[in-house]
Amino acid sequence: MMSEPQGERAQAYPPLKIRVLGSGTSMGVPVVGCRCAVCTSSDPRNKRMRSSISVQAGDTWILIDCSIDFRMQLLTWPMPRIDALLVTHTHSDHINGIDDLRCYNYLQRGPIPLYSTEYFLNDLRVRFPYCFNPLQRGGGVPEVDLIGVEPGRPFDCGGVRILPLAIMHGRLSILGFRFGPFAYMTDCSAIPEETLAKLAGVRVVILSALRHTPHPTHFTVEQAVEAARLIGVEQAYFTHIADELDHEATNRKLPPWARLAYDGQLIELAATGGA
Ligand SMILES: [Zn+2]
Ligand SMILES: [Zn+2]
Repeated sequence: MMSEPQGERAQAYPPLKIRVLGSGTSMGVPVVGCRCAVCTSSDPRNKRMRSSISVQAGDTWILIDCSIDFRMQLLTWPMPRIDALLVTHTHSDHINGIDDLRCYNYLQRGPIPLYSTEYFLNDLRVRFPYCFNPLQRGGGVPEVDLIGVEPGRPFDCGGVRILPLAIMHGRLSILGFRFGPFAYMTDCSAIPEETLAKLAGVRVVILSALRHTPHPTHFTVEQAVEAARLIGVEQAYFTHIADELDHEATNRKLPPWARLAYDGQLIELAATGGA
């Protein structure tokens, strides 16, 4: 069903429970072999698995990205089922847990719908051909149904309306996702004007903020603060964090409405009424 991209604010939305399954950059924190202060810190919030969240929207359970740490993440913060997997892009830190989706295939006795752009779905077919070879289906292979989505075209998942958003990851256009009053945008280095317009009315955002030192494909903390200010959110959480950032020390310098996310964090939003 094609529906117009406008009117996000007028949508009734169920309560949202967002679990930060991982808040770390591609190597995770601690980084193997690194002896820096953050990597050797005893603060549990300085231990960051690869970036991913789960979203419970009413009775619907949605996973965003299937990180390398998927197994440990789901053992620690279980989802009873996965109604949909949304893939922001196919870099290894965001998809290489795909083989462990098998556990949910067994639990649910069926394939898991996987949503991304055609560009990334094709990349999945190339990178994980064994998942899409019919001869191997049912033989210990993760089963996903690939469903193409486009930025700006909302789709429905278990009665939950999800709006894919185009964001830039260096020169690569990847996806963020809006769920009514909430948006998740990881691996972001720029937000195009037309996407900013589609974020009107978002109250809480999870945005990536790699570190203070500039990077070609990721926002710095300062750029992420500026982007959150532009969107006009009440609360921003930053994810995809490198070992340059100590949790406490970084938070002390952030505005009161912005905080580093941490693994296991639960963010709850009340239901919003429709027009
Ligand atoms: Zn990444
Ligand atoms: Zn380190």
